[in-house]
Amino acid sequence: MPDALADALYELIVATRILANEKVLDAFGHVSVRHPLDPQRYFIPRHRAPELAEISDLVELTLDSEPVRPTDFRLYSEKVIHGEIYKARPDVHAVCHHHAHAVLPYAISGQEIVPVFHLGAVMGKVQFWDQRDEFGDTNMLVVKPEEGASLARALGPHWTVLMRRHGATVAGTSLRELTFRTVFTCDNARLQSQAMAHGRVDALSPGEVKLTAAHQLRPPSTNRAWDYWVRQVEKAGLMPARAAAKGASTTAARAKKADAKRAPTKSARKNSVKSKRRR
Ligand SMILES: [Zn+2]
Repeated sequence: MPDALADALYELIVATRILANEKVLDAFGHVSVRHPLDPQRYFIPRHRAPELAEISDLVELTLDSEPVRPTDFRLYSEKVIHGEIYKARPDVHAVCHHHAHAVLPYAISGQEIVPVFHLGAVMGKVQFWDQRDEFGDTNMLVVKPEEGASLARALGPHWTVLMRRHGATVAGTSLRELTFRTVFTCDNARLQSQAMAHGRVDALSPGEVKLTAAHQLRPPSTNRAWDYWVRQVEKAGLMPARAAAKGASTTAARAKKADAKRAPTKSARKNSVKSKRRR
């Protein structure tokens, strides 16, 4: 019987490598996955460039973005983006926050991203969030739970939110759907920018968006694209090693063992080491 937890951890690292290889993530940005067996937890790598993240770098956090077990790892300061979206959206199982240059001109200008080709339909209606509106001058990072909650409100029932003068956050019902949506949102933004340079942009109609998104988000499409991106990661020599896959089982086994002994979440949280704020 497949080990759902080990599979989820391995797939999280693969998704991270794909998004780095596809130039969505660079030194910054992060991807997380909700715990497949406990919806009140999620996994995210420790503070490091996403392309370098290994399964052994993954930490398990509560939805308040506190470590479930004490850790010496430095964590991403913007982890609250993930925790607050998981809290607000039980249907979301994977989240990516990034600063891809393909979408930044839209986050800077406030120009709407619209689906300009069929695969762009999967991004849904792209929302905007301006941290300045509610929080005034900040260091531009989403570090406070209330800032993450505000971003989650701006996302609402949608899947993509542009963060003014900062980047974007994307949600998915699975890591594969998230990867599909994130890559094709960037492709759509790039194509829209090019089309705008040519003149008038003709977007998909609402009916086309609905029909196309439903078709493209079925597993035959998302799995086909996933396999293609995995091949690109393999060609780039970035695929997590087989030993790392074994590591997933070890990490999962360790998590399970600790789960068995674990005190209730509340006291676990009390004992947990406060995460260090860094992105
Ligand atoms: Zn950021």
